[in-house]
Amino acid sequence: MRSSSKLLNVADHDRDSAGLTYVYPVVSRRAGGVSIGVNLNPNNACNWRCVYCQVPDLKRGTAPAIDLARLESELRIFLHEILHGRFMKDQVPANVRRINDIAISGNGEPTSAREFEQVIELIARVKRDYDLPKELKLVLITNGSLIDRSGVQEGLRLMAALNGEVWFKLDSVTREGRQRINNTRMSLKQMRENLRTAALLCPTWLQTCLFQIDGEPPDEKEWAAYLKFIESLLQEEVPLRGVLLYALARPSMQPEAPRLSGVSQDWAEAFRGKIQSLGLAATLHQ
Ligand code: SF4
Repeated sequence: MRSSSKLLNVADHDRDSAGLTYVYPVVSRRAGGVSIGVNLNPNNACNWRCVYCQVPDLKRGTAPAIDLARLESELRIFLHEILHGRFMKDQVPANVRRINDIAISGNGEPTSAREFEQVIELIARVKRDYDLPKELKLVLITNGSLIDRSGVQEGLRLMAALNGEVWFKLDSVTREGRQRINNTRMSLKQMRENLRTAALLCPTWLQTCLFQIDGEPPDEKEWAAYLKFIESLLQEEVPLRGVLLYALARPSMQPEAPRLSGVSQDWAEAFRGKIQSLGLAATLHQ
């Protein structure tokens, strides 16, 4: 989920009352435009439980069966409204009245939807029918844990032809760190394999959340392991685009919330510098 953005609805700022299940707009001053969000997890279910997760009532699980006809109709209604209706005029500040991307980024892990590949096909079909900016991106925000599934890989292949990008979550490369932050037991080997697969199929960025637990930023063991991991990926010529470093912009909805705080600007800048010195782009999103 995008942290510092503001959810708005075409009709009345309340997506439920407008009857939209899967599609929502995110107006971001920071990103300078409107992102069309596609939420494949309206049940707030994820196979991970990150301590900073902003999803309220998050539960363990997977996306429910997706009503593809409904998703397609919501997307069409939405695009029509954005392109021809009053949404931009009424709800978006003049300086950000442009569509940035379509972002598959919901209240849980989107690739857990069994229909993931069909969702990408559907987006491709809808995109073709509208006069959208050529550079419009299709972004998948994922924890990367299910990229070994063939349907997900097919979806990524299709995404690559749609100006797609994968934002692959990487908060820690130690077993303890991933258990503590993401509450996942997925092995580093599997994660590395999934990341490699993603990067070979579709342009891929790493997405890393920077924060302190109990007032402490990641210790040297953590960040040194992270940098070593990135270095080894680069040596193996895994075609990564770069790293998106995120701060905690909205409060966590998890029980650990009171223990979390942001890292200092200096810490974040220094960490970014270390990544860049390996020869990889890194951007900071505070
Ligand atoms: S992977 Fe995303 S949706 Fe799932 S728990 Fe983590 S932050 Fe929340």
